[in-house]
Amino acid sequence: MSRYRVEPTPAQEAVLLRHCADARFMWNLAVEQQSHWRPGRQPAPGFVEQCRQLTAARQANPWLAGGSHMVQQQALRDFAQAMRNFFRGTHRKPRWRKVGRDEGFRIVAVRPEHVRRLNRHHAVVLVPKCGWVKFRLSRPVPDAVKSFRIARHAAGRWHVAFAHIPEPLSGPGTGEVAGIDRGVRVTLAVSDGTMFQAPAPRPVARLQRKLSRAKRGSNRRRKLQRQLARAHARNADARRDWAEKTSTIIARRYDLIRIEDLNIRGMTRSAKGTADAPGQNVRQKAGLNRAILGSAWGLVATRLERKAAGRVQKVNPAYTSQTCSQCMTRDRQARESQAVFRCRACGYCGNADVNAARNIAAGHAVTARGRSPLGRRMNREPQLSP
Ligand SMILES: [Zn+2]
Repeated sequence: MSRYRVEPTPAQEAVLLRHCADARFMWNLAVEQQSHWRPGRQPAPGFVEQCRQLTAARQANPWLAGGSHMVQQQALRDFAQAMRNFFRGTHRKPRWRKVGRDEGFRIVAVRPEHVRRLNRHHAVVLVPKCGWVKFRLSRPVPDAVKSFRIARHAAGRWHVAFAHIPEPLSGPGTGEVAGIDRGVRVTLAVSDGTMFQAPAPRPVARLQRKLSRAKRGSNRRRKLQRQLARAHARNADARRDWAEKTSTIIARRYDLIRIEDLNIRGMTRSAKGTADAPGQNVRQKAGLNRAILGSAWGLVATRLERKAAGRVQKVNPAYTSQTCSQCMTRDRQARESQAVFRCRACGYCGNADVNAARNIAAGHAVTARGRSPLGRRMNREPQLSP
């Protein structure tokens, strides 16, 4: 996804807000239909049936007919996708959308001539019922854009995100294998010793404290809320940008990329525990989870799997941080500190994250079966490249 800041005129902003309201209305309608479903009842209407209902509702309801059919229909399609994600277990159940939060809509069937460059800094995109809307050309618009989403952030800013599937990048062709350890101290450590550090998030604690002291309903509170939302947005932008650049560098520099098979979602969820077994050290884990999510691992991994398609392998991360990458001795006490690994069997001493990355590169336990994309068998004894 490439995101660009949109600069609508006041008249255009009114239309964009109407599109947001339409999308939210259809989405919430779908949530409501779904919420009536109980085991044993007829299934809630699917996308095709909902589209039929939408057409009928537009004929009966002038307010609905005044909105964009495409925006309304795409909201239903997005909801159908959200339900599929929910059933697959990768996402939470789609929830009710509120005014001013998660506001946005999708436009599909975009043709190349619907995006035009004005000058070095600005371009325009054609939005139904809204006309040409200006956006900041902070980087080139990808080719072959098929759809885009326009969203309004809580801070009042508008963004357009063009959906395109990036062309897979090719590696150097040298057969170089890299293992990547995703740590908390160093965001990414590569087995050859390269480190990538995600930008440190700008602190928001001071704003949060101020906000908690501000009187409800006051102008000051609203102002602080906007400032906080803007600070969060800046942090998220910086992380996304970093993940985009870092994944490109890695995909170009190495032929085979091994990463930990770590389910970030699963990890962040387990801290809460269940009713039967409430999570232990919930507070401690919550802090760690923030660090994990903040360090932008997941972003890089998903981008890598696209950019280095077929060249990414997931490795079981068990013991990678306790095993010596030189002599394979497993020793819990070898991890002298967060930063240093010192093997008591062979005397190897090095950066703990790089040691773990080398174990991952060696692919001690490659999760995927069969042959590697480089033509070597993967289920052999682990061997370190010299
Ligand atoms: Zn050793």
